[in-house]
Amino acid sequence: MGLFWRRKTGDEFVTLGLNEPAAKKPADSSVDPRPAKVAIESPEILPAATGSDPAPVPVETKSEVVRNPPIPTVSAAEPVREKAVPSRSPFATSVLGLNLSIEELQAQEAALEQEFSTRFRRAVAATRDSLSEKLDSVFEGRKQIDEDLLDQLEEVLIAADIGVPTTLSVLETVRKGIARKQINDLDALKAAIKNELLEILKASEAAGVASETSVPETVKPYVMMIVGVNGVGKTTTIGKLAQRIKAEGNDVLICAADTFRAAASDQLAIWAERTGVPLIQQKQGTDPAAVLFDSLKAAKARGSEVLIVDTAGRLHNKSNLMAELDKMKRVAGREVEGAPHEVLLVVDAVTGQNGLEQARQFLKVAGVTGIVLTKLDGTAKGGIAVAIAKELSLPIRYAGIGEKVDDLVVFDPEQYVNSLFGN
Ligand code: GDP
Ligand code: GDP
Ligand code: MG
Repeated sequence: MGLFWRRKTGDEFVTLGLNEPAAKKPADSSVDPRPAKVAIESPEILPAATGSDPAPVPVETKSEVVRNPPIPTVSAAEPVREKAVPSRSPFATSVLGLNLSIEELQAQEAALEQEFSTRFRRAVAATRDSLSEKLDSVFEGRKQIDEDLLDQLEEVLIAADIGVPTTLSVLETVRKGIARKQINDLDALKAAIKNELLEILKASEAAGVASETSVPETVKPYVMMIVGVNGVGKTTTIGKLAQRIKAEGNDVLICAADTFRAAASDQLAIWAERTGVPLIQQKQGTDPAAVLFDSLKAAKARGSEVLIVDTAGRLHNKSNLMAELDKMKRVAGREVEGAPHEVLLVVDAVTGQNGLEQARQFLKVAGVTGIVLTKLDGTAKGGIAVAIAKELSLPIRYAGIGEKVDDLVVFDPEQYVNSLFGN
């Protein structure tokens, strides 16, 4: 897993300031070199749908102060003191750990990885338990593989929401393996299923956008649009993404382009406040493309690395709303090369096959490049991940594993399959 956000390869954000004259840098200076307020040029396009004031309302939340911690001066006379362990968010390692040695940092990162891996396993525990229980009962008392066993296996996989087409293709591979005498016992059968699921998940990474590293660092900001029907977890996911990407030393900006529901912007403002990430918003009813335009300007003015765009939970049968999405994409592309770099479709794992159907409708119009699978912690049918990868042929980028700000992980096919099959 390593870093959550791997786009920044340079070390520009880890500056110890060793080349600067000491006098110029008082140790307790808490002045953020960036302007506290985002100055945005008055947008010259896209008049607001309602209201007369087109000026964006940047909500400056806590003015974030990311600064270099003072370099400890080591004096031989000084006794080695126990380091006070600050209460830190679990992923605040890379920026705020400048006072630690490489070894300490590596140990921290390993511990962090371990923690996320443990939490991911816990999130898919219900799926794992249900799957292994059923597999055990299918295998119980059997010594060989026959048609009856394969039929039962089919039922188990479908029950885990892996989906009919995916299940059939898994079984086809398994049957071939049996015919070629590559699969001779139950252990080999289990291994073959596991391998097939992994292959499906990995194959989906060839489509869409599988990594933020595919966009050159020089292109700023990296624009992510978040789409999906209401209630799937878009806003929550944005809060989580903003927090983690920021924690790794990136300047993040959120655009509240869900101007349809009054509460949407307020809800997003709460997340922005909590994570200390600035939010650009406007009055309810404003053209979302206009809010996006303002946000792109603001992001460029700030030199933001990442812009995350919330959108309205459109129902797929409203063609005017789809046109709206299209307009937003055009505006983004005009302002930033290649933007939006990712269009992430949020899918609620709990809704299973229904969610998959909704997703299909979105794919037709929204130019989706990847999936965020939320609420994996709330279902025993986490097999839906495989159905999504196979049937939509898009990579699953992130998985939501709870309601809290750090309950988001980069989806790792291997980790997922291993977690499901209990090793
Ligand atoms: P939106 O309408 O798509 O913006 O959805 P929200 O972000 O408002 O989320 C809807 C509900 O789903 C909220 O109650 C969230 O706390 C909850 N939720 C979002 N992601 C997750 C997740 O990964 N796990 C769980 N258990 N709940 C989640
Ligand atoms: P109906 O389908 O004709 O009943 O219209 P709606 O109730 O869906 O929408 C009424 C107005 O709100 C129209 O002008 C729509 O363009 C606008 N509208 C509907 N949904 C959205 C949305 O998700 N975002 C924005 N910005 N406007 C919307
Ligand atoms: Mg929302």
